[in-house]
Amino acid sequence: MAKTLCDWSKKDIEKNISKLRALVESPEYVCSKCARACSIKRALCRPVALPSAKSTHHRKAG
Ligand SMILES: [Zn+2]
Repeated sequence: MAKTLCDWSKKDIEKNISKLRALVESPEYVCSKCARACSIKRALCRPVALPSAKSTHHRKAG
């Protein structure tokens, strides 16, 4: 991927909405510069790993 998600323009987003969905569906990284989230580290310009979802969300018992 030549472009990072951070470089996507509004048009890129509209054209690649299904690709974008796949990229952001279960994000493991966020860009510390642009606040974008993505499952692929190199798709962000300043990626930082997200902490595990377990620590930030309440899980329903059961
Ligand atoms: Zn970025």
